[in-house]
Amino acid sequence: MYCGKPFSNLTNYHSHTSFCDGKADAEDFIKQAIKEGFYSYGISGHAPLPYHTHWSMDMEDTQKYIDTISSLKEKYKDSIEIYLGMEIDYLTDEHNPASDFFRNLSLDYRIGSVHLLEDKDGINRDIDVKPDLFCKLIDDKFDSDIKKVVEIYFNKMKKMIQRGGFDFIGHCDKISLNASFYRPGILSEKWYKELITEYFQFISDSGYMIEINSKAFEKYGLFFPNIEHFKLIKELDIPIIVNSDAHYPENINAGRFELFDALLKHDIKQVMELDKGKWVKSDIKQL
Ligand SMILES: [Zn+2]
Ligand SMILES: [Zn+2]
Repeated sequence: MYCGKPFSNLTNYHSHTSFCDGKADAEDFIKQAIKEGFYSYGISGHAPLPYHTHWSMDMEDTQKYIDTISSLKEKYKDSIEIYLGMEIDYLTDEHNPASDFFRNLSLDYRIGSVHLLEDKDGINRDIDVKPDLFCKLIDDKFDSDIKKVVEIYFNKMKKMIQRGGFDFIGHCDKISLNASFYRPGILSEKWYKELITEYFQFISDSGYMIEINSKAFEKYGLFFPNIEHFKLIKELDIPIIVNSDAHYPENINAGRFELFDALLKHDIKQVMELDKGKWVKSDIKQL
C-alpha cells in the first residue's frame, strides 16, 4: 500500500481485459479509471498469434476487440480519453508489430513486446511464466544455459526495435526477473551489465519510448526495467511512459506512485502521456 503523497499523473496505457488474459471486461477497467480520476487510459490486449494461446486474443476476435473498445471510447468520451491499443509480440520476421496485418488495424497505439523465445527444437516458449516453471524450462529446453537465453531475449528485442511498427517498448528487460530467480545476482555479472548498457544505448539511438512497468512491484518490489538502470535511462534521456500492466481493474494504478517516487529520486521529471491523440511530455507532479 502506497503511503506517500499521491501524484496527478493518472494515466495507464498497458492493461489486459477478458479479450486476452485480463480478468474483467474493458468497461470495468474504464469505470475504475474514471472512479480513480484518470484522464487518459489505454486498453492493450495481447495481439493474436498465428496459433491459439490462453493469454492472447484469437485472430477472429480482433475486429470485435476493436469495435468494443471504439464504442466504449465514444460512450465515455465526456469523462475520460480512452485509447485503443494492442501489445504485439515480436514472434518471427513474418509476425511482428511491423507486419502489414498489424499496421493496417485502426489502433491508437501499439506496444512492442517479446514474451516468446524459440527453444533448441524451434518451439516457441513463453518466458513470462512463474519462476519455477521458467527454471524448469531453461533446464529442459535450453540446455540450462541462462546466459544464452538472456542473449537470445535481448537480441530479439533489438530485432523488434529495428523493424519498428510500434509506439513504445513493453517491459524492456522482462526476462531479468526470471533470470534472477534462475541465477541470483545475474544482473550484477559483468557480461550482463555490458549487455544492458549497450541495449539501452541501442534503444536511445532508435528514438523509441519505453514503458516502465510497475506490474511486479507489489509482489517482488521491482520494475521493468529494473531500477538499477534508471540512472542510465536518465543519462540517455530515453522518453518513458509509466504503466501498471493491469489485469484487474483494481490494479490500474498499482505500483505507479512508488515508481514516480523512484523516478524523481533519479532526477527523471517528465513522462509521456497521450493527450488528444498525441504523445506529449508531462511533468511528474506530486499533489
Ligand atoms: Zn507483456
Ligand atoms: Zn501486458
